[in-house]
Amino acid sequence: MTTPAPWDQAAVIDNAAAPAVVLMIGDGMGLSQLSAAIYSSPTPLALEEFKVIGFQKSYSSSDLITDSAAGATAFACGVKTYNGAIGLTQDTLPCLSILEEAEQRGLATGLVVTSSIVHATPASFAAHQKMRIFYERIAEDMAASGVDLLIGGGKRYFDRRNEDDRDLLAEMQARGYLVRDYFNGDLDQVKPDPNLNFVFFTADNQPLPVNQGRSYLAYASRLGTEFLDLRGKDKGFFLVIEGSQIDWANHANEGKLAIQETLDFDRSVGEVLAFARRRGNTLVIVTADHESGGMALEQGSKQGRVKPEFTTNGHTGSLVPVYAYGPGADAFAGIYENTAIYSKMRHFFGWDTDQNSALQLNKTTTQTLNN
Ligand code: MG
Ligand code: ZN
Repeated sequence: MTTPAPWDQAAVIDNAAAPAVVLMIGDGMGLSQLSAAIYSSPTPLALEEFKVIGFQKSYSSSDLITDSAAGATAFACGVKTYNGAIGLTQDTLPCLSILEEAEQRGLATGLVVTSSIVHATPASFAAHQKMRIFYERIAEDMAASGVDLLIGGGKRYFDRRNEDDRDLLAEMQARGYLVRDYFNGDLDQVKPDPNLNFVFFTADNQPLPVNQGRSYLAYASRLGTEFLDLRGKDKGFFLVIEGSQIDWANHANEGKLAIQETLDFDRSVGEVLAFARRRGNTLVIVTADHESGGMALEQGSKQGRVKPEFTTNGHTGSLVPVYAYGPGADAFAGIYENTAIYSKMRHFFGWDTDQNSALQLNKTTTQTLNN
């Protein structure tokens, strides 16, 4: 089952040559979360369609048990850093993320999440801050990043700030963003303009859990891929999609909700796989930053009635599965560091052999970091 297309199909299909990468992160989605979701679903999951599967080592430079900031920075920049760091090396130097590099190389870029958009996972791709809780500074970095598409919560960090009176949304509109939010209706009632960057806030702070009515991720994933395909017509695109709240259900040891959040994320995976098949030359990677909850399927579990139990309120250090589809997918088989996801994605884009590249972080990023 797929949602209605936001644009004509004909407009979408004709540029199969430019490479595109969709990195999908199920925050806290370890093997047990997947197992529980598979045994709870009457139909096969989209994740069961992947043929290339690997495992990555999720540890950070400071801890065997990573947090989401260090975990996402590993994917974004290819460096192991300390827990809590957003887009920085362990020596607190800003690192150029693959999203920023894509932006500088003229690709279209996007972040689609079910947390606030300034939360650790998306932040690590478009911000550089010493601590993940610096939400307002992360919002500044994101507003200046040039990213083509942002969908998630966290509007208040942009337009009702405590640290200053800036209205980052007005500033973004002045620089060519179409900015919309839930006051304008649900995402599927708002029509983006492919000639403008697009921001849509799904909540003022954190979006609701999926069992309280949040339902936009699958549609946002379809809209995001097709929007960036138009925006990145010549050079391709890089999109990150996060099922952010699997992790939060794990932290709360709410097994049923963790399953529901995993199934919601899987619907988004299904949309992206369908898009990748239609378009061609699209590498889809699905992984997690870490497992959380130490989930296990307890004795007495049955198909359709799984009993997940937890061993912790925090994260764990188990290896994390990686699922890959499309050209370049074969490189994701095996066991490797989480930082290798970054280099494998760059390799697919052909950037690691590009002798002409001398890309640097722009000055605004460094200035934001130092103030
Ligand atoms: Mg996250
Ligand atoms: Zn967590």
